[in-house]
Amino acid sequence: MKAHRTILIKLLENDCDIGYIKRLMGLTNLAYRDFEVLVPDLPKNIQYQLYGLKNYKNSLVFGTVPKRWFAEAWIPLTTLRIYADGSKKGNTTAPVVLDFRNNIIKLHQVCRNVPGFVVKIPMPKWVIERIREGGDIKYAMIGLKNNELYLALVAERAVEPYQPSGYRLVVDVNSWRYGIAWGLIHNGQLVSFKQEKPNLNELLTLYYQAVKRGRKYGALMRIGLHHTTQGKRLRKQAKARMSKIYKVTRDKAYYLASKLVKKALKYKALLIIDDMTEESRRELLEEGLPRDVIKLLMSNLKRFVHQLETLAKWYGVPYEFRRLYSRKCPVCEHELTQLPGRIMVCENCGFKAPRDKVPMYWAIKIENERSQSFYLTET
Ligand SMILES: [Zn+2]
Repeated sequence: MKAHRTILIKLLENDCDIGYIKRLMGLTNLAYRDFEVLVPDLPKNIQYQLYGLKNYKNSLVFGTVPKRWFAEAWIPLTTLRIYADGSKKGNTTAPVVLDFRNNIIKLHQVCRNVPGFVVKIPMPKWVIERIREGGDIKYAMIGLKNNELYLALVAERAVEPYQPSGYRLVVDVNSWRYGIAWGLIHNGQLVSFKQEKPNLNELLTLYYQAVKRGRKYGALMRIGLHHTTQGKRLRKQAKARMSKIYKVTRDKAYYLASKLVKKALKYKALLIIDDMTEESRRELLEEGLPRDVIKLLMSNLKRFVHQLETLAKWYGVPYEFRRLYSRKCPVCEHELTQLPGRIMVCENCGFKAPRDKVPMYWAIKIENERSQSFYLTET
């Protein structure tokens, strides 16, 4: 099985001709749609690269396939790797050269249509780590994201998932309000359990500060004073607070994905992911929270699930997605009643547990049933 991971490296705009990159992105879209791209002023080597997107399709970890006509597609680029011992891998005429002897990456005529034009960037630590883990940087891409220029490096690694031990690591993805719940299960027991979330007070404080400044800015705008120093400052402050919020949840998402995959590796556990984000969104709507706050509480959760899956694949952690109930009794399958404090009780059999632990008991139940049927087929 081949696993992939991607890193984005921001390129300096001074080094690059954005118009040239945009043109290449447009041409990549045409090449992707089977049009022959013959551009007399482009070097042949660069032109050949444009057709590579189809070969990349299955190996890409992020959405770069042009969905619309005239959409700008990221430009696929082949790479040459020169290792510390002088050995080489890849295409010798590749426009992207990863030189591990000097720890630099060289981009040949990718950033500007000038013969012999080279941009050098320092080798990211990320690349060294992926190589150390047995990966190879076979693919690279260049393109614009939110009007900023990036080089994407795609690491590939051949890895087989390990045979899981008796441990199961269950990850229940809710909104940040109640956090991401995880439980480690062994021999039909919940060995450890935790709910992880960012500091919600900090996030909400930032949010209300941003809203307040946004309103003041709006008031200035209505009287035509939004271009004043005060107006500009308010707008800048509101924006800075909103991006800080998303940075906090993004960092938490990456940190948790890495922590949970390490935990699974430590116990050689089977990773079970229960993506409840849609239910959680509905629950927050029912609670009557403002849409902006809901957006904040749901931010970067998709990214978390994606990163968890990417890391599980990369490190050979066996995983599966499974729906686990939180409103149905794991003992008798009767509908559960919710009490204050998110406590769930079964009026039929008396089962009682905190709401976020119910899916863990479902995982244990499924596990028990599975081992019983295994036992039956064995005899
Ligand atoms: Zn019950």
